[in-house]
Amino acid sequence: MSDCLFCKIIAGDIPSSKVYEDDLCFAFNDIAPQAPKHFLVIPKAHIGSVSEVNSENSAVVAHIFEVIAKIAAEQGMDSYRVVSNIGEQAGQSVFHLHFHVLSGRDMTWPPG
Ligand code: AMP
Repeated sequence: MSDCLFCKIIAGDIPSSKVYEDDLCFAFNDIAPQAPKHFLVIPKAHIGSVSEVNSENSAVVAHIFEVIAKIAAEQGMDSYRVVSNIGEQAGQSVFHLHFHVLSGRDMTWPPG
């Protein structure tokens, strides 16, 4: 999608701090980290949010969770949080599906 920030990051038009990449997904450090480790994992194909996941595109979501587990193991992360905000009220500011992976500090529940 031409006006999507994360599509531009995938294309390399906007720089990012890459953590992982394969044919289906891309992971990079969040520009405003909310924990000592905070990276985002996104599908390369544009999907607006979890609310647009369906039987046609859901395989990439399973793949992303495999990738999250692999990165976490490689980085020695034994406790972490995975978050996806859907819609403005929930805090979504970039409308390309992404999973926040946060680790390295105590976290509260419920979230604010
Ligand atoms: P959300 O608010 O859940 O949609 O998450 C969007 C995330 O993207 C926020 O945590 C931002 O800090 C992050 N973000 C925005 N622009 C960039 C960028 N250029 N590089 C890395 N992360 C970004």
